[in-house]
Amino acid sequence: MTDITQKKPIAAIATPVGEGGIAVIRVSGLEAIATVNEAFKGKDLTKQDSHTVHFGKIMNKQNLPVDEVLVTLFHSPKSYTGEETVEISCHGGVLVTQSVLETILALGVRSAEPGEFTQRAFLNGKLDLDQAEAVADLIHAKSSKAVDAAHQQLEGRLGEHIKKFRQQIIDATAMVELELDFIEEDVEFANKEQLQKLLEDLDTEIAELLETYETGRLVKDGVKTVLIGRPNAGKSTLLNTLVGSDRAIVTEIAGTTRDTIDADWSYDGLLFKLIDTAGLRETQDVVEAEGVKRSQKAFEQADLVIYLKDLSQSFTDQERKEIADFQSRAKETPFILIGTKADIELEGGWRTEFDLKISALEGEKIKDLKKLLKDRALENKHYDASSLLVTSTRHRDALQKTKEHVDSALRALSQGMTGDFLSIDLRAALKELGTITGEITNEDVLDSIFSRFCIGK
Ligand code: GDP
Repeated sequence: MTDITQKKPIAAIATPVGEGGIAVIRVSGLEAIATVNEAFKGKDLTKQDSHTVHFGKIMNKQNLPVDEVLVTLFHSPKSYTGEETVEISCHGGVLVTQSVLETILALGVRSAEPGEFTQRAFLNGKLDLDQAEAVADLIHAKSSKAVDAAHQQLEGRLGEHIKKFRQQIIDATAMVELELDFIEEDVEFANKEQLQKLLEDLDTEIAELLETYETGRLVKDGVKTVLIGRPNAGKSTLLNTLVGSDRAIVTEIAGTTRDTIDADWSYDGLLFKLIDTAGLRETQDVVEAEGVKRSQKAFEQADLVIYLKDLSQSFTDQERKEIADFQSRAKETPFILIGTKADIELEGGWRTEFDLKISALEGEKIKDLKKLLKDRALENKHYDASSLLVTSTRHRDALQKTKEHVDSALRALSQGMTGDFLSIDLRAALKELGTITGEITNEDVLDSIFSRFCIGK
């Protein structure tokens, strides 16, 4: 582990702002305990063991009590940040909490920036960079599958893979160097095959991990699900039925949904970001025209497209053409054709295969629809609950670059290039891997990662 550096103390409220039973103020850094002790009336905190809790009062500069508190002490390096840390649990009122924080700040402690505690934890080697990112993912997770994915990463599962890849590259480098040493002695050939096998295996393993990204992205960010169809097809009604509240305005006047309306909906642990689009039709209305444009954009960025057709209205040729057109434009994106208002369906065959006919009003086939949405969203995607998923674009990009360097080394090998060339590729691959766990990093990357955090984390 890296040596712990204790920086000047920082403090922040670590619990959400608002009223609650208790709130926690976290203080971390050099002499954090002695500093809090200056405002603490109770035992002498500087004489207490690590991981102990003490009851007392926080007193202000005028020696008036601010609040009754419990303080928990963490000696360095056995804390989240690795630094000396005090967590003050006070009463959870907005003003009380703020007053306790201000009392601590008045002792010369600085307000923490968002994510600064976690950043210190990373710099002190308490967490790898991918684990620090997982902390933010966990806090922002909006579905149980997203929580699972963040936990896997927080436990270091991604880090384990990266360490294994690192070792494989180091082994390959050793073989290349061995080859350089014995170049005169004809050991080259056997060695080359072995080296090739090692690099090919590595290449496959990286590719397999990369393949999980598509699922990882859906699990972490949610499945962008776009509802399209003619005005009055029943889009808003379906969205409301799924979400279970009156999120979208439902009326009988065609063209009510003028903008896209988004709502988060979770099913079986997977988050769907439902986007109800303005009815797709030519329009003279400026506001509505803007809405139609946005619907087109939402369609292009969708992970799942649902086209709704009102079964109480006959099919026009133009509508059939429109559906076929959308279907072909959706390309790889799963496209679902749903017949709506099955309760008042027109008599007569449709000559069109619907994936499902539903009635949102009567709750008919809604369960089947939910299951269908999940199945189609994850179709052709690798997913099993225990598998590790790459969920971040940063990690995907670094893995992709690593793979390119390994590919390049394999090409160099097959073209009979000298070991020096191979070494260059392998070193570059190692460097890319190091950016994932944070052995290699720069300020900009760190800033962008830690700015995603809330204050107090
Ligand atoms: P949108 O323009 O596509 O968003 O359509 P709406 O959701 O606003 O629905 C248009 C009209 O159809 C409203 O009067 C709804 O009450 C009605 N509607 C929606 N779904 C059903 C259904 O399943 N059965 C029946 N009978 N009417 C429905």
